Amino acid sequence: MIVARTVADLRAALRGRRGGRIGMVPTMGALHEGHATLLRAARAADDTVVLSIFVNPTQFNEQADLAAYPRTEEADLELAAAEGVDVVFAPDAGEMYPPGFATTVSVTGPIAETLEGAERGRAHFDGVATVVTKLLLAALPDTAYFGAKDAQQVAVIRRLVADLGIPVKVAVCPTSRDDDGLARSSRNTRLSSDERARALAISRALQEVTDAAARGFADTEALRARALATLAAAGIHPEYVAFVDPETFAPVTRIEAPVLVAIAARVGSTRLIDNTVVVPDGYQAGGA
Ligand code: AMP
Repeated sequence: MIVARTVADLRAALRGRRGGRIGMVPTMGALHEGHATLLRAARAADDTVVLSIFVNPTQFNEQADLAAYPRTEEADLELAAAEGVDVVFAPDAGEMYPPGFATTVSVTGPIAETLEGAERGRAHFDGVATVVTKLLLAALPDTAYFGAKDAQQVAVIRRLVADLGIPVKVAVCPTSRDDDGLARSSRNTRLSSDERARALAISRALQEVTDAAARGFADTEALRARALATLAAAGIHPEYVAFVDPETFAPVTRIEAPVLVAIAARVGSTRLIDNTVVVPDGYQAGGA
């Protein structure tokens, strides 16, 4: 396994491998089983697997969150080797943002400006879009793998890849969860045991909404009230419980087609997000 610290070294490592398929998994490190599912999807489909590890300062809206973000490079490299990664790209901030850096990739419209974009501010998805563009251009993979857990990030990346004509396929892997339902996240290590127990209300609320929608409940205000009650019972007052179109992120008032239900909440000082796509009872793609 090659560890490249510069774009030049990354490109040199990939030069002889362009005859086969290259898959890339961008991450901020502190790797867990959720990241491993992305690496396995790449390993199964591609000849060369590239993992990037970069805690991108420009996407953090809170300095305290950036400072507290877990950094576990040694363990990350072990996990990468165990998953059969060929090349790790782990640059420092100076490599990604050298002096004079002055370009921002900014996706506009509801997919970047609502929910996470509204709560964390414009700079968050600008930071994500800019760094992902740079990572994709540095490696030029055939396929890049992302997690459905960050559904809005996926929508932003799909948009910039299409708009800028970056020749990469965006593959999305399902959210990986602990056995009790908690969505895996690098931030989970910051939860106390009491907070971790309370955080389960987030996935439970999503499951209840899914079950209710499958039984024919379609009014999203009523479903939101139910989710809020489940969260409140665990002492969680979310930043949002949103029902939106999975592609446009426009708000939805009735579940008549697949709807993305997304929750963001602080549990203690740790900010968690989770989501699911609910499908109404009897729904068939293409209408009917
Ligand atoms: P991060 O390191 O948190 O920025 O995540 C890197 C990639 O892993 C992103 O595409 C995330 O959506 C994905 N990811 C993080 N957690 C999970 C999870 N529990 N299940 C699936 N993908 C995940």
